[in-house]
Amino acid sequence: MKVIVATLNAKYIHTSLALRWLYIANKDRLDIRFREYTIKEDPEKITSDLLAAGCDVICLSVYIWNVGRVGEIIRRLKQQNPRLLFILGGPEVTYEPEHFLREWAVDYVISGEGEFVLGDLIASLERGETELPPGVSSHDRISTTVCRADITRLAQLPSPYQLEEDREELKNRLVYVETSRGCPYQCQYCLSSREQGVRYFPLDYVLDNLKYLIEAGARQIKFLDRTFNLNKEHTRAIFDFLIAHWREGLSCQFEIYADLLTDEMIDYLNDRLPANYFRFEIGIQSTYEPTNQAVKRKQDFPLLAHNIRRLMAGGKIVLHLDLIAGLPHETFERFTQSFNEVFALGAKEVQLGFLKMLRGTHLRRDADRYGYHYAEQAPYEITGNDAISAEELHRIHEAEHALERYWNSGRFATTMHRLFATHWAGRYFQFFDELGQYAAQHHLPHRGYLLEDLFRNLHHFLLSKEIDLYDALRTDYYSHFTQRPRGYWLQTIDKRERKKLLYTIGQDKEFLRKHHLTRRIIEKQTALDPLTPQEYLLTIFPAEGEKTAKREVVYFFSPA
Ligand code: SF4
Repeated sequence: MKVIVATLNAKYIHTSLALRWLYIANKDRLDIRFREYTIKEDPEKITSDLLAAGCDVICLSVYIWNVGRVGEIIRRLKQQNPRLLFILGGPEVTYEPEHFLREWAVDYVISGEGEFVLGDLIASLERGETELPPGVSSHDRISTTVCRADITRLAQLPSPYQLEEDREELKNRLVYVETSRGCPYQCQYCLSSREQGVRYFPLDYVLDNLKYLIEAGARQIKFLDRTFNLNKEHTRAIFDFLIAHWREGLSCQFEIYADLLTDEMIDYLNDRLPANYFRFEIGIQSTYEPTNQAVKRKQDFPLLAHNIRRLMAGGKIVLHLDLIAGLPHETFERFTQSFNEVFALGAKEVQLGFLKMLRGTHLRRDADRYGYHYAEQAPYEITGNDAISAEELHRIHEAEHALERYWNSGRFATTMHRLFATHWAGRYFQFFDELGQYAAQHHLPHRGYLLEDLFRNLHHFLLSKEIDLYDALRTDYYSHFTQRPRGYWLQTIDKRERKKLLYTIGQDKEFLRKHHLTRRIIEKQTALDPLTPQEYLLTIFPAEGEKTAKREVVYFFSPA
């Protein structure tokens, strides 16, 4: 049987480690190839490509981000070749195989880690056996086993990180690495809570692969470990290795449980780490203890906050903090408090997610207990529960758009710091909420806007509150440009008038001499902004290829 394993990644830069494992574990046993697509590609094109491969069995890895597309592709493939055999795997199908067997009419579903089970299943099909390996469900039998691959055996296979066909593209893609599998925690909304225990790949295996990836030019490595810093020795050994092998342009991302960071580890990171080399993604989700207890999430917020503040003080690590709206018992008001407590920690990025009722999670099973309503289609986002209404969640969505554009984008640093030091001090969520409501009332688009629109909209919003931060917005706007921008976001001065004024300034020899400027610099590299009727701010941009910093000079027109 000719076998293809395929998946649809969310973006082109992502790589599917799962496909590579399936391929590596079975390439000596089966006639197998792997194919990777993205969810943005035309389903017809993907279907044709899979059909052109001339295989008998198509295995698809199904995730929350591709489940809709995979279903569509299977329907198309079945129409065009009814003899094809379909095997599904991946987290989306693992805990409800009967749903996919029924709804998609596929032949088999593998629950859990399928590296070795796939080969066993194909071998038994080739032999015409009716007995299926544990972990495989069919229309005749639903398996309750969730497979776990033997990690030691996986580590003895050729490395999925070192495939010759990936080498060329390593530097352009996000490389996923796993040093362990499983999570010991029980967060009820998360599929990883269904796994028991944590298994580690041998350290020398991990380090050997990291060495290869770094030497081959990888730029972004994302560690898939559910809680990277669970085991101190393991964590420290990998951090030591990465620090010793630091290379300009390389960055590494980790999911960190911040309560587990020790003072010793934080000191070590603050002392030894090159700046911006590591990015820590830290799930906080809620600071409300009854909520955390309801979802069985163990968290010591004061300790976590202390650790994050210490990391922030070190200034070496990019921190990304996660919150979830819609968890049990958390009302709109209590969510506002969670947001403000988390935002106050000052991280560069705060990601506000919305609870999703993933197939197979305990929370989905207990949805009625909390009065949850949620979408039947992936990503199964909730639309309300006993504590929070659909309208309130909608409002949080609008705030989240404002958060993404005005904080997480990093484009408004000066303006945001001014606002949070004054008008919205300590009321961070209220700011994003008010801005989100303003955007909704004025029908401002969520997509397809220009940078200039963002500046103009924020300026108008602030003016509607009688706040004028034009100077901070101007600074933020110019900070995006290394050369004088062609346009501007506000009509402060007529185009012809600007040209005339720059010409006049360019004639002022004394001024030019005093500030080491030339007429050409004034006319070609300088932005002009009125401060008062007589005073103008000149922002002087470096010429193309010049490495000097931008500078500001004030020009005063003496009354005639
Ligand atoms: S949310 Fe994180 S810590 Fe909790 S079970 Fe999932 S992976 Fe583990």
